[in-house]
Amino acid sequence: MNIATWVERNGRRLADHTAIGDGERPLCNWRTFAERTASLARGMREEFGLEPGDRVAVVMSNRPEYLEALFAIWHAGLVAVPVNARLHRDEIGYILGQSGAALAVADDAHATDVDSFVNTDPCEPGLRAVVVAPGERWRRLGGAWPYPLVDRAPDAPAWLFYTSGTTGRPKGATLSHRNLLMMSLSYFADIDAVQPHDCVLHAAPISHGSGLYGLPHIARGATSVLPRSGGVDTDEIVALLKAWSGMSFFAAPTMVKRLASAAAMQDADLSHLKTIIYGGAPMYLSDLEDALDIFGPRLAQIYGQGESPMTITALSKADHADVAHPRWRDRVQSVGVARTDVDVRVVSDDGNQLSVGEIGEIVVRGDVVMDGYWNQPNATSETLRDGWLYTGDMGSFDPDGYLTLRDRSKDLIISGGMNIYPREVEETLLRHPDVGAVSVVGRPDDEWGETVVAFVVSVDRANPPAADGLDRLCLDHIARYKRPKEYRFVDDLPTNNYGKVVKRELRERLLAESDSESGSGTESGTLST
Ligand code: AMP
Repeated sequence: MNIATWVERNGRRLADHTAIGDGERPLCNWRTFAERTASLARGMREEFGLEPGDRVAVVMSNRPEYLEALFAIWHAGLVAVPVNARLHRDEIGYILGQSGAALAVADDAHATDVDSFVNTDPCEPGLRAVVVAPGERWRRLGGAWPYPLVDRAPDAPAWLFYTSGTTGRPKGATLSHRNLLMMSLSYFADIDAVQPHDCVLHAAPISHGSGLYGLPHIARGATSVLPRSGGVDTDEIVALLKAWSGMSFFAAPTMVKRLASAAAMQDADLSHLKTIIYGGAPMYLSDLEDALDIFGPRLAQIYGQGESPMTITALSKADHADVAHPRWRDRVQSVGVARTDVDVRVVSDDGNQLSVGEIGEIVVRGDVVMDGYWNQPNATSETLRDGWLYTGDMGSFDPDGYLTLRDRSKDLIISGGMNIYPREVEETLLRHPDVGAVSVVGRPDDEWGETVVAFVVSVDRANPPAADGLDRLCLDHIARYKRPKEYRFVDDLPTNNYGKVVKRELRERLLAESDSESGSGTESGTLST
């Protein structure tokens, strides 16, 4: 099954219904979109001599041509490699090379960078050409006679999803047509039903969660809306909510927080807002409460990863709304229950299933789980074992089946033989009114193995909270051994291109300093045991 069949069918069944919205105005209907992607498919296959299974990279910010490119690629039986447009030139080059992309579609802003990776020797494998979209050549490719939809086996690769790299060099999770189909079906089962009069707003990068969750909407003939800003602009979102109905969008927790606190949202008309799906990083309780105040019961959380696209567990809108439930606070701090199409377990180091309440690594199995990493057999066999995907995330189930994420296994701090989950310490510190953001990591220590260090961004950068006040807060809420030994007051936390805090960088910072005992007066506060 080729998922591009959805567009072909919509082109017939919903011919005059809007397929793509460019900002507030309809750009094209399904008939036009289906014809255009089928024509671009011919252009790609014939002008560049591509064969089914060849990879085509897409390096562009969110714009209508992004969706044209994706569905033309699939229609032609090719494999899409969506590259995060905010990556450094060298990182883009790495992904182009690792995926063996033969063609790239790039927007104007990325064309020169991508062009520098074209292999000028036609006898060598590698990138053969870059087409700039929008642009003359792209327009011409789309003018070709429509190509027939290429049949694909369900297991054929469709999307090489390069993981965001919070833990090292990106790896290409190979997602098949079946994986994307299962992801879409379980969206309908666990998140929302979707109808043609709904729309999905691509405020987050299409190369990541927003593109993935765009698929169930395309399957059902809903409209894909591309903000003119290419990203998250609160005023624009408020305007788009007037123009389009039944709107859903995917947002990282930091985006949700920003939207909820924006002045324009405070009295916005949200009657056209259907669902905000957040995930990809922890949503702290106080931020969630603020978001619920603004958006009401329109929030759903998902926990997934590129390797099991957007689909391991979910916390439904109903769970968010069930404030009267005696365990509501615990539930909204969890990542919800296992999705309909997967088995989820928590296992010990030796792979044995753990009981309710016990913390271990989260593993998942199902038809949504990737077949492996593109051309990385070692990484694949480390991650996929006995049919299970080892997520690298630590968590535990409660008796009702709600999974609480503790941390990435690599983020776990072991101090004096005790396991410390940074998330818990972060949640505690965020209760302090003067703490804006925080990230907790371990620092190697001769005596304890590791000690806990908190990097704190204070609300008022010039007046950070006193370290002993933060210490008291920890003593009031968590076990003594978990509290940070040191507080570092910083202007910002390092984040990757999807807004996730890169703890690796914080750990490296500490390692680099470890010889010259750090922590001079104003920047940090060191506490005694
Ligand atoms: P990526 O493959 O880049 O989407 O990153 C996936 C990782 O993000 C997961 O393995 C988790 O560590 C983290 N993550 C995803 N969803 C959530 C969530 N709802 N809450 C906390 N962390 C999450």
